[in-house]
Amino acid sequence: MSKSGPPIYFQQVIQIFNFLDLLFPQRCIFCGKIMPPGGKICAGCKTDAYLIGPDICPKCGRDAGKCSCAEDAGALCFDSCIAPFYYTGSAKSAILRFKFQGLPQNGPFLAKFIYDRIEEKYSGLNFDFISFVPSHPEKKKARGYNQSEILAINAAKYLCLPLEGEVLVKTANKTPQHELTRAERFKNIAGTFSAPKPRTVSGKKILLIDDILTTGSTLGECAKTLKAAGAEEVRAAVFAATNII
Ligand SMILES: [Zn+2]
Ligand SMILES: [Zn+2]
Repeated sequence: MSKSGPPIYFQQVIQIFNFLDLLFPQRCIFCGKIMPPGGKICAGCKTDAYLIGPDICPKCGRDAGKCSCAEDAGALCFDSCIAPFYYTGSAKSAILRFKFQGLPQNGPFLAKFIYDRIEEKYSGLNFDFISFVPSHPEKKKARGYNQSEILAINAAKYLCLPLEGEVLVKTANKTPQHELTRAERFKNIAGTFSAPKPRTVSGKKILLIDDILTTGSTLGECAKTLKAAGAEEVRAAVFAATNII
């Protein structure tokens, strides 16, 4: 064995990893730019992500005084929602890559930001379990995963809370919400979900995870469905909220 360097076995492993780095370089989770080994977010994305707060609207989680959620109070049946980022800049590209470029492996990292916001803004609250906005089975099959489910699985791990996966079911595969106007979204989503496990949700405080808050119509409908099944409280946490509603 040579005394001048690591044993031949380690040299081989290091070479393999160097080779793998060339084949599969580490990329910025947010924008996809190639990063040095160990890097997760590039400098540009760190400055380009628009962090919400510190003072937030107690209902929708956007910057305090800069939202119009009171106009939709009747439809927003969740008790509150929080989000670390606005859906713009690098936080938007992070979601688009995670959702549409077949990168479910980015989920644990994105969920960490949701977890940090939950720790910050929901610190005095207790939840019985975590769940997520379901996607229609056909859509999940086509994409291969439900991005909200992946975020919820990881948020539940960080929070050491149980995950209940089937308390909400999407029964109708309607026009995608992003193709509709604000008024149409509330109408389109009505009656889309069912709560097949009323005994699991009855009297419970639920933390619901989704990827994006836009009008709040989807989370509002989910909360309405869970509350009709007996849930006591439904709060939400998402990765990003649109800054214009
Ligand atoms: Zn980046
Ligand atoms: Zn608000």
